Amino acid sequence: MINCPDSAISPKIKCAICHSVIKNRHQIYQTRLSLGVICKECRKRFSIEDIEMITNMFLAYGGYFGQFKDENLSIDNLIIKFATQINLGKETLTSTNLKMWHEVLTHGISPREFLKALNDYI
Ligand SMILES: [Zn+2]
Repeated sequence: MINCPDSAISPKIKCAICHSVIKNRHQIYQTRLSLGVICKECRKRFSIEDIEMITNMFLAYGGYFGQFKDENLSIDNLIIKFATQINLGKETLTSTNLKMWHEVLTHGISPREFLKALNDYI
């Protein structure tokens, strides 16, 4: 069929951070370095530096912000888990740091929330 309706030929645009469908294309934010576009809510929720870090993280390791939000993982448990791994010396600090941020973000915890909790913990 040659004449397709527009909705059939134009794919839905999803936010590169939270995967919500962006309905209003005028509310798209284009990141500087990655190919993804960001929804208005994520643009408000995260700093420019966080957006670059988060989009690169999900591009490299997959997943999206809040993917496992329903698992109800506490920030305290995450901090203890990664502090234990670092203390055991099983992995490098860089490797643990990447895994920690990926887990934090896929559980729907923003960098600001996590850093505040980490600061309170220390
Ligand atoms: Zn979003």
